[in-house]
Amino acid sequence: MKKWGFLLLLLLCLFLSFINKESFFESKADIPNVEVLKYDQHENDKAEDRRASENSRQTDITEEQIYQGNLLLVNNEHPVHEESIKSDVVNLTIHNELTQGYVLLGSTNYMSMDIAQKFSEMMADAGKEGLHNFAITSGFRSFEEQKILYEQMGSDLALPPGYSEHNLGLSLDVGSTQMKMEHAPEGKWIEKNAWKYGFILRYPEDKTDITGIQYEPWHIRYVGLPHSAIMKEKGFVLEEYLDYLKEKKKVTTKIDGKKYTVSYYPFSENMTINLPKNQEYEISGDNIDGVIVTIYD
Ligand SMILES: [Zn+2]
Repeated sequence: MKKWGFLLLLLLCLFLSFINKESFFESKADIPNVEVLKYDQHENDKAEDRRASENSRQTDITEEQIYQGNLLLVNNEHPVHEESIKSDVVNLTIHNELTQGYVLLGSTNYMSMDIAQKFSEMMADAGKEGLHNFAITSGFRSFEEQKILYEQMGSDLALPPGYSEHNLGLSLDVGSTQMKMEHAPEGKWIEKNAWKYGFILRYPEDKTDITGIQYEPWHIRYVGLPHSAIMKEKGFVLEEYLDYLKEKKKVTTKIDGKKYTVSYYPFSENMTINLPKNQEYEISGDNIDGVIVTIYD
């Protein structure tokens, strides 16, 4: 009996020490892990700072950069500056390779080479999907051409010289050779797909109060990726997108597995920003008072 009692006591002791150990492990596992994590995180931050300073360089930002790039806002409050006009405007009548998959109508002869190439890529894909009736009715317009147009069409239908995105070289009027763009399959295709190629519908039907311009299903504007994708997803026009960037300061997004970081900086005298050495980046002004830096792999 004594033996059994001793054995029972031994078993009880073992059981208790087991329970204690369990709870001991549990409590120990809970708290120190968090500390370890915190500690590691701290080390990570320091390492990241170190890496960032090793892999980036201080770059001066000049005032002219407010007026250069693909994100320039042009509207009745913010006219086109001479230095903002695309410098790669070409005569399309001698560049057949850039006018495949669509026709040029009216007196449209000039376009930015860069924008024409991007538009051509889009047209090639539209063609594969069976859309073959695209036309461009207007590309780049000089201030002089804009002046003539304004005098002919009047202020209801045309903008004064310097206030049209066409003067910038980043916009195109795209039509259908078959019918009005608002009814054409080409119009539907553009509305659905243009963002993939960096283009946006600049004057949507439901944003006339913000843009100050009537619905223009034909007028597309190049802003580039990831901006066109973010704008499409959030339903922003350019005015709203720039306000959003100003408010958020930094936005990150992933498109087709590619990561983009978009940061807004208000311009100031003697301004410098950190730019990565091992990543691609683009800088664009907003045509108001700041610059947007887009970093991608
Ligand atoms: Zn237009």
